[in-house]
Amino acid sequence: MALEGIHHITAVTGDANANVDFYSGVMGLRLVKQTVNFDDPSAYHLYFADEAASPGAALTFFEYPGAPPGLPGAGMVHTIIWRVGSAKALDFWKARLRDAEMSVLHEGDLLTFCDPEGLAYQLVVDDSDDAPLSASSPEIPAEFALRGFGGVRAYAQQPQASAELLTALGFAPDGGASSWLLGGAERSATLGYDEPPLDAARPGAGTVHHVAWSAADDAELDACIAKANGAGAQPTGIIDRQYFHSIYFREPSGVLFEVATRDVGFTIDEPLEQLGLTLQLPEQYEQQRDSIELKLTPLNNPRAGS
Ligand code: ZN
Repeated sequence: MALEGIHHITAVTGDANANVDFYSGVMGLRLVKQTVNFDDPSAYHLYFADEAASPGAALTFFEYPGAPPGLPGAGMVHTIIWRVGSAKALDFWKARLRDAEMSVLHEGDLLTFCDPEGLAYQLVVDDSDDAPLSASSPEIPAEFALRGFGGVRAYAQQPQASAELLTALGFAPDGGASSWLLGGAERSATLGYDEPPLDAARPGAGTVHHVAWSAADDAELDACIAKANGAGAQPTGIIDRQYFHSIYFREPSGVLFEVATRDVGFTIDEPLEQLGLTLQLPEQYEQQRDSIELKLTPLNNPRAGS
């Protein structure tokens, strides 16, 4: 068994509607789930993904209204890498993001920009054989759509400290001591470490909370628990997250890792066509639905009513 690249990436936003406007509107992702943070049901947990709500393309946000901007530092993911299909797609996104009055840096085959809260992205031309995971959007020609995650970059003081754990989990060195490749049978992803800035890490809006790697099922989570323990990490037990089962641990460089399963999925509580249109709550919060809904900001979902 091998982990199949990234399952999802979770970040923090201070403004759910601005977040939906940007990721659904500008970036053309599909809002596939409106739910709450299961550890704090007063906060939204919004999931954006491809059309089929696939692991490998799921970008999720906890909303803490008005949260001050954070700053990634040592032990945090600072950049998310998305794949696109061609150099022409980079040109398309450069023009589209500039039209949205965002600053974009185009260097060679890399396009770098930040979302409105400062979360950094790189678009890279996809040189993998992985199936593209794209959403359909009226404003984005299919050949230019985002195709899922290529990887993440994190800050670490001593990235070599993570080598034993990463190797145990199935990561392989990818050209240099700070670059790793997690290559499964179906999907792959990269993990790169960079020297941290002098300022201390400050979690907040526009920062990544954790990255989740993709496992098949609970048996693979059990195997990961054993591997993480063997490499000195302290994994949690298996937690039911409604749409997947998960374990969590910090890797030695400080980045919060999750490993999440592909065996449940986002259609467990609403059909594929209806994904993301209404607030979904797990059973333990269903009785509190009225009070939870009162506290959440109503969302302007571009697909609602269409
Ligand atoms: Zn997660």
